[in-house]
Amino acid sequence: MRPLTALAVAVAAFAWSGSALAGPPGSGFLVFKDSRVGAVTELRADGTGRLLAREAVHAKATGGKKHQAEDCRDASNAPFGATWPAMRPRYLVNSASTPAGLDRQMTLEQIRRSHDAWRFPFVTDCKRPKPSTPQKSYRPIYGGETTRLASLVGWLETDGVNTVAFQSLEGTVCDGASACVIVWFDGGDILEADLAFEPDLTRYGLADFWTNDERTWWDDLGGEWAIMDVATHEFGHFAGLDHVWESPALTMFPFVHDGAQTLGLGDMLGMHAMY
Ligand SMILES: [Zn+2]
Repeated sequence: MRPLTALAVAVAAFAWSGSALAGPPGSGFLVFKDSRVGAVTELRADGTGRLLAREAVHAKATGGKKHQAEDCRDASNAPFGATWPAMRPRYLVNSASTPAGLDRQMTLEQIRRSHDAWRFPFVTDCKRPKPSTPQKSYRPIYGGETTRLASLVGWLETDGVNTVAFQSLEGTVCDGASACVIVWFDGGDILEADLAFEPDLTRYGLADFWTNDERTWWDDLGGEWAIMDVATHEFGHFAGLDHVWESPALTMFPFVHDGAQTLGLGDMLGMHAMY
């Protein structure tokens, strides 16, 4: 279920228009930096990592409730223009990096469930309408555990391994994010994607903590961020989706919220458009 706080979104800066880089030109890195105050997306050059474009969205809670049915009617979705090719890519999870306060095994299971929310049959509360035909070509699967860190997230270093890890984002291109996805793409293909969670959210000055509970909540002092909600949103980027700016009920709204672990209509349609 999705008890939602209504959110007002102010788009602070647009370096490219709308929701996307429809068909990213050439090759490069897309950096999705998500946090409690909004989202920053960057396009960086292949090779040098030079910043080419940047957009920032700041979201602010306004109180109030959105009806859950909203996310089952909103068809908004924004593929960013690169998708996983037909081979069978694997993502590995560094579960040894799970911070104290989280259960390591449960966190691993929740990360896997968050990824599988995007595979058909989708994890959703929506009864109908929803896509009735399966995806045919979304192939990333869990490939086991690793001791690697997310190389792209730390240093834009490609290592050919799609890694999910908790690691300090301080001083990296992802600094400021609670969770960060970097996608390396070339000619419409995703070549590698890494996902990192900042293990110490208190580093940003508030009493924010990760939780294995299902519920995400927060206030001005701090909050608890459900791995399931955050990871599901981030795996949307991993699959090829950009944010949907005006759809607060959808998982790909650029502001992680309670209930993001179940997909809305637009989230599912986005996957169908791509795969
Ligand atoms: Zn995001």
